[in-house]
Amino acid sequence: MMKKVCVIGGGISGLCVAYWLKKKGVDVLLVERNAVCGGNIQTERDGDYLIEWGPNSTLVSNHLFELIAELGLLEAVAPANRSAKKRYILKDGKLRPLPLKIAQIIWTDVFSTKAKLSILREPFVKSKSTENESVAEFFRRRLGAEVADYAVDPFVSGIFAGNPEKLRVESAFPSVFQMEKDYGSILKASALGKKEKPSRFVPKGISRTVSFENGMQTLTDKLAENLLDELKTGKEVLEIGKWKTDNGKWKIKTDDEKINARSFDAVVIATPSFVAANLIENLDGELSEKLKEIYHPPLAVIVSAYGRENVKKDLDGFGFLIPKVERRTILGSLWSSVIFENRAPKDTHLLTTYIGGARNAELFDKTDAELFEIAREELGDILRVQGEPIFQRIRRWEKAIPQYNLGYEKIENGIKQFERNNQGIFFCSNFYRGISVGDCVKNSCETANEIEKFLGE
Ligand SMILES: Cc1cc2nc3c(=O)[nH]c(=O)nc-3n(C[C@H](O)[C@H](O)[C@H](O)COP(=O)(O)OP(=O)(O)OC[C@H]3O[C@@H](n4cnc5c(N)ncnc54)[C@H](O)[C@@H]3O)c2cc1C
Repeated sequence: MMKKVCVIGGGISGLCVAYWLKKKGVDVLLVERNAVCGGNIQTERDGDYLIEWGPNSTLVSNHLFELIAELGLLEAVAPANRSAKKRYILKDGKLRPLPLKIAQIIWTDVFSTKAKLSILREPFVKSKSTENESVAEFFRRRLGAEVADYAVDPFVSGIFAGNPEKLRVESAFPSVFQMEKDYGSILKASALGKKEKPSRFVPKGISRTVSFENGMQTLTDKLAENLLDELKTGKEVLEIGKWKTDNGKWKIKTDDEKINARSFDAVVIATPSFVAANLIENLDGELSEKLKEIYHPPLAVIVSAYGRENVKKDLDGFGFLIPKVERRTILGSLWSSVIFENRAPKDTHLLTTYIGGARNAELFDKTDAELFEIAREELGDILRVQGEPIFQRIRRWEKAIPQYNLGYEKIENGIKQFERNNQGIFFCSNFYRGISVGDCVKNSCETANEIEKFLGE
């Protein structure tokens, strides 16, 4: 008899787990609350503009490219333009490119001489991370306060929209934490550490940052298309349990009696943490409370289009991020029409600006008109933009990205204990083992393998 698995949530994590389970010959049902799958991945075409409301791009990895190749999407991949390698940060009101190579640190005007010496001394810093060290403490200890303020803080804001003083380094940046553990130094590890051998599906010389010709949603749309017979959209799952079921199998509760009547050998939770908390409340009240505590800062994404002749700064990079010490109201802005081709008409720039996050959460309460004004003023000042935008649009993420804050290890341990106590339930979502699209793809592949093993037993 074919084993049955229910996957709850059709973001990239749930779609990938369902896809790989189906490939392994498992009878899968994917239940998604919204009419369209994709979760955070949301691309919109507006005339000649291509807007990303969620992730703009992802980093190349073997798992991702094996998936892309299997789905027949290799031709649709859009590598970032070469110039997008350059990333700016704002210092003393001026945009300055971050050094891309260690040798460039000597010449950069991002860091003072004192900070440059701290970087060069990093391999000789002997101390090691304590169990609950924040990202800011970790980098201050290894590289000094100035690097933590001007390179790490904006970087954290660009990835997590988070607060480096609160994020737990071991959970938020496990590979950097491991570098210190294995090599005693980040610089040494970067130079000597083993690099993953690229899979044959990764095109040679491709930029490390990629999307698709028609945006990131190409990937989730294609996965959903492959799962058409296994997919139920527009169905909200309310609870997981074992009510009057045969052979101790799992069931889920929705408003659809047909789904409620089915039973499963395993269930995958691929929803955000605040939903997962409700799904398991009757199974483990303690973990449910912990999941509710995971902070998701609010984030407003503002997309603005300007005539190129009105943008006086030469946009020759990925965009810019702003360190907290600069005290500005936006977190940064991506130059979407520079990073990828065909995102806007040739004579126009499309800019994606972020407001809020853990740093300025209170700004999320402002009206759309006020947020548009903030974006206009800041871009006007930083990029020397003149005149009015051709258009501005906004998407509000009330709960954007889960923060792996100090104390996160209790949540991680709670999840592991829950999976042991409730055999057959698996967690696979961005609040567990990594938030990037690449992390979600990798974790889904590993979860599908774990489930295959569990079903075999
Ligand atoms: C604004 C923004 C920008 C980002 N930028 C980047 C970037 O540039 N690069 C990068 O790598 N990552 C980026 N990320 C992070 C990345 O996009 C996400 O971490 C990832 O897409 C999360 O995928 P997921 O499937 O784990 O969760 P989600 O995408 O949250 O999917 C969860 C799914 O569960 C469904 N669901 C919820 N409740 C229920 C229910 N009760 N029953 C059934 N279904 C339910 C939801 O509708 C949703 O489809 C960004 C995130 C945001 C918000």
